[in-house]
Amino acid sequence: MQSHLYDRVLVLDCMNVLMGTTSVRGVFVSIFRDEMDVLEYRHGVYVRSSHRLHRVPEVVRWREPVRFIMYRSLGPTRRNILLRDENICAYCGGYGHTRDHILPKSRGGIRSWENLVTACEECNMKKGSRTPEEAGMPLIYAPRKPNTITMIIKRPEKAPIPKSWKRYLEPVELLIA
Ligand SMILES: [Zn+2]
Repeated sequence: MQSHLYDRVLVLDCMNVLMGTTSVRGVFVSIFRDEMDVLEYRHGVYVRSSHRLHRVPEVVRWREPVRFIMYRSLGPTRRNILLRDENICAYCGGYGHTRDHILPKSRGGIRSWENLVTACEECNMKKGSRTPEEAGMPLIYAPRKPNTITMIIKRPEKAPIPKSWKRYLEPVELLIA
């Protein structure tokens, strides 16, 4: 049996607001503890635990308000920063595949969506541990925390986005109706 433990699951908070995606494995414990409701299951797909088969969730919702959960897929990882910036170097506009701290780590710069940008190797080297002002390298765009839906859609999954996710990726007004 093919393992579906690492398939992606769409996670909503108790107000139906999208929080991100995580793995089937990552939500099983919360489902068993009755902390999450499963809104959609994958049709005809199961995973095996020690003594039984479990249906595979595709969309889950927390029952109570939850805070401070950063789903890994939506954190400012190198991969997500490059996706958000579409590989455009924030300093020269060329193709970039490295991640630069605008305020350098050595100067107290943090790992946040607002302090990280895509840079080409050349600009990254040239800037070094200076601020953009000190380096005379102004940013050509302002980095922001991306919208959750944008990141889920942009994320190049090995598997296509499940059909059951579609209505949850539409605007919130449609979700409530
Ligand atoms: Zn560059």
